[in-house]
Amino acid sequence: MTCRNENLTLESRLVQTGVGRDERTGGISFPIYPSATYRHPGVGESTGYDYTRSGNPTRQLLEESLARLEGGARGLAFASGMAALTTLFLHFSSGDHVVVSQDLYGGTYRILDQVFAKFGLRVSYVDTSDTTAVAAAIRPESKALLVETPGNPLLGVADLAALGALCRERGLLFVVDNTFLTPVLQRPFEFGADITVYSATKYFGGHNDLCAGALVARTPELGDRLYFLQNSTGGILPPQDCWLLLRSLKTLALRLERHCANALAVARWLEQQPKVTAVYYPGLERHPGHALSKRQSAGFGGMLSFRVDTPATARQVLKRLQLISFAESLGGVESLMTLPAVQTHADVPEAERRRLGICESLLRLSVGIESACDIIADLDQALNQC
Ligand SMILES: *Cc1c(COP(=O)(O)O)cnc(C)c1O
Repeated sequence: MTCRNENLTLESRLVQTGVGRDERTGGISFPIYPSATYRHPGVGESTGYDYTRSGNPTRQLLEESLARLEGGARGLAFASGMAALTTLFLHFSSGDHVVVSQDLYGGTYRILDQVFAKFGLRVSYVDTSDTTAVAAAIRPESKALLVETPGNPLLGVADLAALGALCRERGLLFVVDNTFLTPVLQRPFEFGADITVYSATKYFGGHNDLCAGALVARTPELGDRLYFLQNSTGGILPPQDCWLLLRSLKTLALRLERHCANALAVARWLEQQPKVTAVYYPGLERHPGHALSKRQSAGFGGMLSFRVDTPATARQVLKRLQLISFAESLGGVESLMTLPAVQTHADVPEAERRRLGICESLLRLSVGIESACDIIADLDQALNQC
């Protein structure tokens, strides 16, 4: 009974990441190659590795694993999600225009408005859960659509198939920031995406102990272009961190299963609480993106947001939390809660925040993999027992 690796399910391939790749020793875990440079066998000859920014065996295994996981031609690993996004935006030229989700990671807003604007990259923020609004925002100089779905922090769901068709018709590069779901739960290339972006600090890393980012290109041409930009600008992920991320990939599917189950249990509980005025989680039947989410994703993820009656209640909850940490970031095994208006989304202009509904009574919860009962008990004492 032989079982070829290509026929394995995604879950098994994740677990088997790197197994057998260190042919010299047979190591189950692939080694870290710290060497900054490599001996040349002769003039004009190379072992395949010359200088670590341009290529490193540990990073190469990670990048190949990311590409295979996504079903893309090339993966690239960066020192952070922002380094990956920076490299992506450097693909564009002054005068180019990009359409971007308005329900967006705060740092992406900041880099577009305060860094790339200076270089003439123009941006329109639209509700990407409304395909008609996206179509209306496209200009003759538009080059790309960047979508985050589910959105951040309000978990709006964009129709990937409809947006993929729109981008094809209008000649736009279709880029999806798939940080919240990862290819285990959502596979943007199957809906026509050209590039996927990740903050691997989140679910890929999964343990709140690593900062990393990734880009995956669907075609070899785009992969070569992004590699050129990565090598030119140098925001690479160091080999030690590549190894840590390879290790994390092995448990990704298992972790996500638990994140999804816990998030649904917590969302259902939150809906019943008198002080909670709204719960945003695509897994809830009443969420406007529920049916769409079910069609295009294999799970609803571990992120949810909720609104409480007053900003004072939100502050009280954050102060009283015990198991859940009041901390930024998301996607790790430990549950974390933030107040987006003053933390992750502080760089979104205030008027824009108000328009979107990111106010000081909105809390965002990254549901970890502790027991759902313990998470709910902590929320209960923080919210209700005073
Ligand atoms: C965190 C995050 C980023 C930025 O990634 P870093 O690793 O923090 O640089 C980008 N997009 C999304 C959706 C994120 O959650």
